[in-house]
Amino acid sequence: MDLTTPITYVKGVGPQRAGALEAKGLATAGDLLFYAPFRYEDRTNVKPLNDLAPGEMAAAMATVHSVATPKLSRRNLGIVEVVFTDGAGGRLVGKWFHAASFLTKILEPGVRVALYGKVEFDTYSRELSMLHPEYEVLRGDEDEGDESLHTGRIVPVYEAVGKLNTRLFRAVLKRLTDQLPSMPDALPETIRQRLGLPGLETAVRELHFPPAGTDLRLLNNFRSPAQSRMIFEEFFWLETGLSLKRRQAQTEHGIAFALTDRVREQVKQMLPFKPTAAQKKVLGEIARDMALPIPMSRLLQGDVGSGKTIVAAQAAVIAIENGYQAVLLAPTEILAAQHAVNLRRIFEPLAYRIVPLTGSMTKKEKELVKRSLASGYAQIAVGTHALLEGDVEFHKLGLAIIDEQHRFGVLQRKALQQKGVSPDVLVMTATPIPRTLALTIYGDLDVSTIDSLPPGRKPIQTFHKTHIEIELVYSFVLREVRQGRQAYIVYPAIEESETIAMKAAQKAYAELSTHVFPDLKVGLLHGKLPAEEKEATMAAFQRGEVQVLVSTTVIEVGVDVPNATVMVVENAERFGLAQIHQLRGRVGRGSEQSYCVLVTEKLNDTGRERIRTLVDSCDGFKIAEMDLRLRGPGEFLGTKQSGLPVFRIGNLIRDSEILVLARHEAQSFVANPPSPEALDDALRYVHDQWQRRYGLALIG
Ligand code: ADP
Ligand code: MG
Repeated sequence: MDLTTPITYVKGVGPQRAGALEAKGLATAGDLLFYAPFRYEDRTNVKPLNDLAPGEMAAAMATVHSVATPKLSRRNLGIVEVVFTDGAGGRLVGKWFHAASFLTKILEPGVRVALYGKVEFDTYSRELSMLHPEYEVLRGDEDEGDESLHTGRIVPVYEAVGKLNTRLFRAVLKRLTDQLPSMPDALPETIRQRLGLPGLETAVRELHFPPAGTDLRLLNNFRSPAQSRMIFEEFFWLETGLSLKRRQAQTEHGIAFALTDRVREQVKQMLPFKPTAAQKKVLGEIARDMALPIPMSRLLQGDVGSGKTIVAAQAAVIAIENGYQAVLLAPTEILAAQHAVNLRRIFEPLAYRIVPLTGSMTKKEKELVKRSLASGYAQIAVGTHALLEGDVEFHKLGLAIIDEQHRFGVLQRKALQQKGVSPDVLVMTATPIPRTLALTIYGDLDVSTIDSLPPGRKPIQTFHKTHIEIELVYSFVLREVRQGRQAYIVYPAIEESETIAMKAAQKAYAELSTHVFPDLKVGLLHGKLPAEEKEATMAAFQRGEVQVLVSTTVIEVGVDVPNATVMVVENAERFGLAQIHQLRGRVGRGSEQSYCVLVTEKLNDTGRERIRTLVDSCDGFKIAEMDLRLRGPGEFLGTKQSGLPVFRIGNLIRDSEILVLARHEAQSFVANPPSPEALDDALRYVHDQWQRRYGLALIG
């Protein structure tokens, strides 16, 4: 038996249970050993029921005596009351509200259970009780091992997988940890010693069966020595991999762009306004990277409206003045079209040749553009995914820029990069990635942050209104439009059904344009419109000819119309926080006071909290942190293609300080390995583990 032994051959598992485990990603003995309990209970001193004291968290063993399901005036409230007794004549009542229907099937009279929960004294019945206690049926099933495994100690509690309940896990893992297969400890000894972390075998054993006397609070906060070691190790290898990858990238040969006086002069000449200090700082960082003979991989982040576009344009000037081409990739046609318009204006004084390339262009138009890129005639291409197609070739691509990078996967970044010979890469995002996430998914990128907005911006005022107050909202919109401003009214698009959103927007458009705002020019925009129509509507809005733009979230990113001052978000409860923040960023781009109105229909408690966060804060970083907390990393980043690794025990939110430590250790380990052999070992280890454990995280 070793770590790679298939799970079927692990004693106590067998082929039937193996299926369910494999479906959960537990395929080998090693996977099982790293399957961490999610909670622990201290059953060291299991007391007779009579000795329980109100107020304490306690474990007890008892037998179900009777079960009652009281009903109030014929309404079934799902109340279940179970009377437990023990051999010493003690009694305890367990109470459940809204109990699942299977509860009474499990807790039948005569069944023995272990109970865990807070003891209370019910003054009405004058009995000891527990509200929603954790329970575990003691069946004396042979598979579940000796009873001493489940009581008289700190016991691990596992999330059940199929028919494999926590007791079976405990029994299987007890057997496995009693005869641990050999597992070499790959964590460098020097680091382990310095941080006082236990060795691998000890850690694995104590992860499942903590030694007597371990502090239960540490355990349940995932900070026992064993847990800390396992979490640290997981992050350490990821960060080591990222560091190695980065070191590798730095030995690659890239383009050393010359920053001559002429280049500097051109960069200055095209600037339509005075850059902010923050913009100057990040351009400095980018220019320094571009001048180095290694390929740049830099993330430029800055809140919505912070002015990333002009910085990207400046970087493009550096490339183009050196005789190279640049490319700008955007996630939507609207954004690509807008960038094309903006860049044409920005580059007018420099007379650069710009070409668009999007999916909606005709075959003939595309052919023409492709030829001009391949010949080197066109100096900068702006477009959508169409740019990634295999037959798009550049004559001499020097700089690849990806806007709203979180909308693309790592593979797409790679695909664009491969259009040139080690071009510099600049990725931009307005969805601020909380630091902990940035460290893991963008760990191989350098990060520049624009941390202040251009001058003269007034903070956007945000209001919350319920659907009943919609007339008020409309009259507010009318008032602003009468003062010469413009407004957006946005309907949610749920990933899989832009069609539903389109219908909502179409319906609202019909209603708004004929009844609500009969005198105003109302425009409609959604993803299913033909590209020319989208562009025409957008252009009309840009020129101020459309006053109210009814839209789905196609306008979410990048759209820039400084005269628009009102953003109404319908069904705001259906959006992610970061998404609303993006939408809100469409206004407040000029010098006028701007407003965002969040209209909701149904709100639960979390919903209310989310809306409050937005009303109270305009800080994208704060909002992103909150969003991450409320939705979890996977949801936050949207898709599987985000490249976020799946951790077995580490949790990016709970364990962020361990992540920071692991990153620091990994970087100094790679920079100053204790010996060349130690680094070689690490390299091999990371390489072997990489693909399976972290999947796509390494590509890119
Ligand atoms: P984002 O970072 O969201 O992509 P943009 O690049 O679209 O932001 O810039 C937002 C708006 O701010 C644009 O209208 C742009 O012209 C303007 N802007 C950017 N930088 C400055 C500056 N230094 N001074 C004045 N206006 C600026
Ligand atoms: Mg932008």
